[in-house]
Amino acid sequence: MALKKTELLVLKRTRIQESSLFLICLSRDYGKLPLVAKSAVRPGSSSAESLQYFAVADVVFYQSEKEAADYISKADLVESFDNIAQNEQKFGYASAALEFANLFLPEHEVNSQVYFNLKKFLRSLNQSEEKDFRREILHFWYLLCIFCGYAPQLGQCVECGGKLAGDRLMLDPERGGLVCARCVGDRLLIGLDRGTVKVLERLAGTDISDNRKVSLTKAQQEQIRQMLTALTEYHIGKRVDLKSFDFLRKLDIMNQDGGIRGEDS
Ligand SMILES: [Zn+2]
Repeated sequence: MALKKTELLVLKRTRIQESSLFLICLSRDYGKLPLVAKSAVRPGSSSAESLQYFAVADVVFYQSEKEAADYISKADLVESFDNIAQNEQKFGYASAALEFANLFLPEHEVNSQVYFNLKKFLRSLNQSEEKDFRREILHFWYLLCIFCGYAPQLGQCVECGGKLAGDRLMLDPERGGLVCARCVGDRLLIGLDRGTVKVLERLAGTDISDNRKVSLTKAQQEQIRQMLTALTEYHIGKRVDLKSFDFLRKLDIMNQDGGIRGEDS
């Protein structure tokens, strides 16, 4: 029975049987992993605290001969982001990031850039004094697209390689980038202002913890959200229907008119 060690973050927790947990984790060294933690929710269990959401844990685990998931034999808390669960906004955005990571990553494929970015995102949310984290989640989501190989081509027309003219540019999620006026065709495209494209280029080279150093208007945020939604739906191959998307849509309703409307759309 070979023991393996890694550092990880929990993406999804499900209680199974009396006191055990089935976890989808993002590990630094083995990618996304399904893991079982036996007796982890029993009172006094040392694993309980380290296998919470929004916590970094060092774990030792072993491969199960019969089961699809591996088993955790030891879990130690490395860092916990306790402020997130205390704040509704932080909790919503942090949950969205976990859902995005789970959605984008296949199992057992190591992607340390996504791992370290998710950790940094949670850490900066935990420390932040801001009230709204919409720009942080958009930045995280965009980096996730880049690190998973879905970065849109923004420098030239993705179809003919030609120059892009004008202040209003069109992005085709299927072709994976901006298209020039000649190559537009009759598909449904996402409109992006040239200023938004410049912001995207800056965000691509900016550390998630430096998000607030990039100037980003509300209108640009909305264009980026539409672009990321379209790219995600195209690459994931289905209409995205996540709890976090509902959360982000509700925030849109709240942000329009500057107040909370009575009903959800
Ligand atoms: Zn073209």
